[in-house]
Amino acid sequence: MFMGTFIFSLLLNLCLSSYVTYRLAQKERMNFTTLLKDLRHVVFPMVCPGCARYPQAQSTLFCKKCQDELSYSHTGLVPTKNRMVSLFDDQYAIEHAVALYAMDTDSRIEHCIRELKYNHRPEIGVGLGQLFAQRYQDFLRKTNIDCLIPVPLHKEKFIFRGYNQSNEICKGISSLTGIPVSTDTIARTKKTKTQTGKSKSHRLLSMNQAFKLKSEKGLTGAHILLIDDVITTGATLKGCIGVLQNIENIKISVACIALPVE
Ligand SMILES: [Zn+2]
Repeated sequence: MFMGTFIFSLLLNLCLSSYVTYRLAQKERMNFTTLLKDLRHVVFPMVCPGCARYPQAQSTLFCKKCQDELSYSHTGLVPTKNRMVSLFDDQYAIEHAVALYAMDTDSRIEHCIRELKYNHRPEIGVGLGQLFAQRYQDFLRKTNIDCLIPVPLHKEKFIFRGYNQSNEICKGISSLTGIPVSTDTIARTKKTKTQTGKSKSHRLLSMNQAFKLKSEKGLTGAHILLIDDVITTGATLKGCIGVLQNIENIKISVACIALPVE
């Protein structure tokens, strides 16, 4: 009896210490909520983030039905001149803009983004990043992207969510391409409430004051790819570009997973 209890507590300790090491290695915030949510995924198998219904094979992010129904964005056809590029006027000189999927209301990709952001499923971000890297492997090679920069979350939101979804997307892209990810370049200094309903100029002004440059180390003359999960008006990215574009000879391109349809 005593031996059994001893072995059980030893195993439990081993599991817990491995989990803590994993979380620390991921540089992710740990708290009781994230622990419970992680445990949930151990007990219940991953479901497809597009439809939340079918048991999901480990090797693919989406089930076959969702894969067939997801709409790719056409922005990759002409990355220098498309609807996404036109969100940025001359004040924000960008090289290219590409999105992976076109997002319609109540679509599978919209459901997937909600799961990624609000249901503690950072692995969806990594999976989406890998799908992006596969779809845009030629683009990433030809444009000689030196560095991936995720749009940062405000510290409080990061602590609440436990991870930055854009950083998870970057990790996925980096895992297949080897392009480094920089999370030390820009910081979000201001919490911005939902931008819906605000005027375009008000939204832009609020975003311009929301970011600061932390370090420009290694970015002189570099071509960076700024990554966000969804781009609607481009205001968030403009805030980031505003603090990056004064770095000497920097080239900036932008990318997202989902671009809402017009
Ligand atoms: Zn599905």
